[in-house]
Order: sequence, then C-alpha cells, then structure tokens
Amino acid sequence: MFRRTKIIATLGPSTDDPKMLDKLIQAGVDVVRLNFSHETSESHQRRLEQVRQCADAIGRPIGVIADLQGPKIRIEGFSDGKITLNEGDKFILDATIPSNAGNQQRVGITYKPLPKDVRHADTLLLDDGRIVLEVKKVIDSQIHCGVVVGGILSNCKGINRQGGGLSANALTHKDRVDIATAAAMQVDYMAVSFPRSAEDIHEARQLLQTAGGKAGIIAKIERAEAITNHEEIIKASDAIMVARGDLGVEIGDANLPPAQKLLIQKARDLNKVVITATQMMESMIENPIPTRAEVSDVANAVFDGTDAVMLSGETAAGKYPDKAVKAMDRICREAEKQPTVRVSDHRITNQFGRIDEAVAMATMYTANHLNITAIAALTESGSAPLWMSRINSAIPIFALSRNKSTCSKVTLYKGVYPIEFEGVFGMDTLQANQAMINELLQRGAISKGDLVIITKGDLKGIAGGTNLMKIVCVD
Ligand code: PGA
Ligand code: MN
Repeated sequence: MFRRTKIIATLGPSTDDPKMLDKLIQAGVDVVRLNFSHETSESHQRRLEQVRQCADAIGRPIGVIADLQGPKIRIEGFSDGKITLNEGDKFILDATIPSNAGNQQRVGITYKPLPKDVRHADTLLLDDGRIVLEVKKVIDSQIHCGVVVGGILSNCKGINRQGGGLSANALTHKDRVDIATAAAMQVDYMAVSFPRSAEDIHEARQLLQTAGGKAGIIAKIERAEAITNHEEIIKASDAIMVARGDLGVEIGDANLPPAQKLLIQKARDLNKVVITATQMMESMIENPIPTRAEVSDVANAVFDGTDAVMLSGETAAGKYPDKAVKAMDRICREAEKQPTVRVSDHRITNQFGRIDEAVAMATMYTANHLNITAIAALTESGSAPLWMSRINSAIPIFALSRNKSTCSKVTLYKGVYPIEFEGVFGMDTLQANQAMINELLQRGAISKGDLVIITKGDLKGIAGGTNLMKIVCVD
C-alpha cells in the first residue's frame, strides 16, 4: 500500500552522514527542507547535491524546499552565553547595547525598531514561549520588562509578541540574497517565513522569478495577521505551512488546533497544498519512540486532510532521524485506513472553471465509486494531479511526466507519486495508453485484470491540457 500523506524532513547536522540520509530516504522521506535560518549557502548546496545523488540512486524524485529565515526577531548574546531569569525579576531588552554584551539586567535585540512596536502591558514570549515577559514601560530604545515566567535564557533566542502586530517586513536583506541562492539551486519550493499578506507573497514570487527561479511558493502561516488574512495569502501561494512553532506563540497554544483545522480545510477548498509542521515528533529528538500524544497529533493531521507532515529538529539535530521518519510513516499509513479519509464530497456543488479540472474531478468521482486500482495521469505541469489530489481517496495517483521539475514538484501532493516518463511523443493514443500501463506494470503498481483510469491531453505537451479520461482493463 502506498502512503498518501507526504513526509518532509528538515536536513541538518544529524543527516549529514550520507548513510543517514540514505536511511531517511529509504524510510520514506518524500521532500527535504533546507532551513536557511541556519548555516551557510555552501552547506545547503552540499546537502542539495547529496539529496539529488540519493534520489537518482533509488530512482525516486525527492522534492526540495528552501525555507527562508524571514524577520525572526531574536535577542542577541550574553557575555556568559546564558542567564537564568526568575519570576519577578526586572529585565531590559535594549536596542542600544553591543551584540554580545548581554547580562543579568539586559540583552540586545536584532530588530532595532522593536521598542516602537510594543506598549505597556504587552506580553513578550522568548524561546518559543518558554520565558514570558510583561512590558512595564518603554524608554527610548529600551523595553523595561518584568519576568512572568522565568528559566534559562541563552543567546539568540526568538522573541514573539502575543497577538502579533510587529512591524518587521516579511523579507529581510538576508532573505533577498537567499532568494537568489534558492533560484540558482533550482529548488522545487521556496517557503516564505512570517508573511502578513498576499502582498508579501507576491513580492517574494517576483524576486524569485526575476532571479530565474521557478519554485512554488509556500506561505508559512506563523503570525496572528496571517490568520486574519489567510484567504488572500492562500490564494497568492502554491502551498501553505501551518507553522505551529511561531503561530502557537502568537495566537496562544490553545488556539492552534482549531487554526490547523481551518487552514487545512481552506487550503484544500482553494485547491492548494498544505503542510502541517513543528513538534510533531518533538520528543524523538532525544528518544527512539514517540509519545502517545505525538502519535495522535500526526494521525489527527492526516484526519484533518493535510498533504504533508514535517519533521524539524527531529531529523535536523535529533538522535534518531530515521526512526522519526519510520514512526511517521507507520502512523500515517494506519490513519489512512480510516474510512473518513478515503471518501469525499468535496466540491460536489461546485461549478468547474477548467477542462483539466473537470476531467480530474470526473476521474476521482469514478475512482472512488468503481473498483479502480490506480490512476495514471500523463502530465506536463502537474496541474491535473493537483486537482485530483484535492479529493479524498484511497486510490494512488501516478503522475507520469517527462518534465523533471514537475516530477519533483508533485512529491508534495497527497496521494500523488511521480514517475519520470519519456516516451509517448510520436505515438498514437492507443500506443501511449499501452506505454503508460506497461510502466505501471513494470513497477508492480498494477497487475493483470485491474481497472486503471488514464488521463491525458492530446499528446502535444501543453500544460493544463488534460482533456481525456479513459478506463482500461489491464491485460
Ligand atoms: P521554523 O518555522 O521551523 O522555520 O521556525 C516553522 C514554525 O514556526 O513552526
Ligand atoms: Mn517559524
């Protein structure tokens, strides 16, 4: 059985050993994330090459996401590396002091205009909410706070304001440089961190395209404003990420589960792809097995309809990267057996806008109501498989494309499996059907007597040109 939900693994020091990367990919990683918040463009380039070699070696396309750092606001450093704050202490976030001059009384901040954005009684959350400060007063470039929840505070930890509303622009100078790097690396997706509006996404896309990049854009929903503007942001993007780490801090942890459900539903309704991210297997950074709560979290994301589940620290810096992938794999497979995630009444009352969309919908309706073993979609741009994958189903959708970048792009789509496939040009339609069936037979995806749905266009290699659906019995 094919797993429909895709697994994304963030690469980092723990996956640098080629043997470990190999294990991850064998364990079922579909897409990797290069996290531009850490390390240099050389290390991302090196990891990318390693992944491409691995993908070639096993003959399965692996998608690549370049994830921009964005305007993550951080404290600067302490002269001793860290301090301990206690409840009731006074502490100053100070935009004027040197970057490594932090001490028990004060610490520098990376975003110098921050004091202008905060007011008396605001709550500031440091280190993903582990430390809570209340703003007492702002004097020029200094934010005077009281410690509400204390703990150890070390260099460069993130700062969020509860409720959002910080003015920082979504694309920093570093992001602009990294966009050019991502374009040159020809990654499949570029993730934009902390967008507030559709405008931020348009700007990122513009910059990427100007640099010659063709990647799909993933909007990371991680600011309170992005929840307010979620519909326009989803429409402007190719995919979204429910970025629960920062989002949970901004909107409050209790608001995360309903936000996750809303965002997944909305993305699918708008025919966009959706990733559920952060702390899914957090305890596996240290332990070889997940907690029951983590198991349920991954399964619930599948029940919510997510396209992909993502691992961050678990693979990038954890002790058991391959075990985390294996755990996700088995949880997803089991969750996908639930009848509710195998059927669909999605878009039953909708008017369709495009021919390929209508063919894709007819295909899925048929597949879900007839004893179909597989769908073989001959595709240029991957658009027909994208439409198809918005419909819940248990039937695998094979995207056969001569286009390498299409193959790696569809790695993110739920229930879609890419196959690099050259040879139908110059064939007539019957020969082409046979060639597609032969390809699936060779891969063991179908066998004699199975019913298969084939979709394709007029064999002219036009993107969005799918206009035909045919049901064949394999003989
Ligand atoms: P990050 O984004 O891992 O880049 O912080 C994801 C999140 O905030 O959940
Ligand atoms: Mn984040």
